Amino acid sequence: MWMSGATAGPDYTELETVTTNYRMAAEDLGLPDDLRTVLAQPYREVTAQVPVRMDGGGLRVFTAYRVQHSGALGPFKGGLRFHPMVDLDEVRALAAAMTWKTALVDLPFGGGKGGVTLVRRDHSDAELQRASRGVMRALQKVLGPQRDIMAPDMGTGPAEMAWLMDEYARLVGHAPAIVTGKPEALGGTCGRVEATGLGVAITAREAAREMGLDVAGARVVVQGFGNVGSHAAEFLADLGARVVAVSDVDGGVYHPEGLDLPELLRRCRAGITGHHGMDVERITNEEMLALPCEILVPAAVGGVLHAGNADRVRARLIVEGANTPTTPGADVVFAERGVTVVPDILANAGGVIVSYFEWVQNLQNVRWTRRKVDDELRERLTRAFGIIHRRSLHDSVSLRDAAHRVAVERVAAALRLRGFDLF
Ligand code: NAD
Repeated sequence: MWMSGATAGPDYTELETVTTNYRMAAEDLGLPDDLRTVLAQPYREVTAQVPVRMDGGGLRVFTAYRVQHSGALGPFKGGLRFHPMVDLDEVRALAAAMTWKTALVDLPFGGGKGGVTLVRRDHSDAELQRASRGVMRALQKVLGPQRDIMAPDMGTGPAEMAWLMDEYARLVGHAPAIVTGKPEALGGTCGRVEATGLGVAITAREAAREMGLDVAGARVVVQGFGNVGSHAAEFLADLGARVVAVSDVDGGVYHPEGLDLPELLRRCRAGITGHHGMDVERITNEEMLALPCEILVPAAVGGVLHAGNADRVRARLIVEGANTPTTPGADVVFAERGVTVVPDILANAGGVIVSYFEWVQNLQNVRWTRRKVDDELRERLTRAFGIIHRRSLHDSVSLRDAAHRVAVERVAAALRLRGFDLF
């Protein structure tokens, strides 16, 4: 899905964006045709019917998708999204992006993604619980702690993961490693909720250092003030940045001197809507992308930065909290203008890294401390950033191109070693 705005819409769909980034890497690496063909399409796609009894007695039938892109490096891993714009192409795009992401940060996982087309805020907790259980019943045969492990994404969180885990326990037996992002009381790990936002802040700091940009005092704009965006804003503020604008699906708020972030976070987490009494200017989601700032964090939906608006972006550094927020058309403009982009498959990999820590803890029946989780996350992301940064200098390409080259190389090597052509 991508956002509409006052200007022309995106020049590429999310699937076209992901496919283009992969094809360019495959081409530059000189990947043989047979490998290229295998990696160009998903291994398996499931579309399932999920009938859900509504609180009022009526029945709604939702469509659930699960796409498993590549299992070359291990079990499929990827989130489950509840959002009105979910469709099969979007899930295909996100599943492939997960393959490159897990390979890039050196996790023993392949890539997968799931989604249900629904408007979360139209449903009660009871309806969401019935929908989550229905998804597990519909997809259970292709899932498993050693086969495919789901996690939260847009519109889902710890509660949905708990229901999915419980439904799996009823069907198959107790196996907490079937999903990650669970509540801590049910075997979830500490640090998972904050992990993606923390990863955005860590990679922003690494990139800023290489650019000679001081994060302390830098103006930051965050589009999407959900799980990823709100935590990214908080961690960047901890590094001394000034968060000047944030938004949600209904629009954004702006203050050139910096927003009262603690108050915004308090209201957001208490479910308070509106900005009564706050000294802020209301802006649209499209306007906020063109605000004067040093760092822009798109952390909502795909395709928001495209050839039609990239020249208006004033940030020097873009750190992609969301998946596929930048189209290849915008990438060309950013390269010409010297805007650095930390690509999604690195910038938002904190979530899947800590999901991996949760899976490991579940399989071993142990619990890590918050310090261990955060230290290991920092270590992995910093190492991955270093590898990509050096590759981008060596090959004279963008961080995105370098990241895809490293990821595609690793997955292709695993496929070769498995003997993919002799099945
Ligand atoms: P979320 O549901 O917690 O928050 C999403 C935010 O985006 C909300 O503020 C919502 O109001 C806003 N939003 C939704 N549609 C919008 C639109 N059309 N225009 C502007 N804003 C809109 O979701 P999240 O978990 O924070 O995920 C955000 C992005 O980060 C997604 O692209 C997701 O795939 C990606 N991501 C999430 C994780 C994770 O761990 N949650 C990990 C990696 C990547």
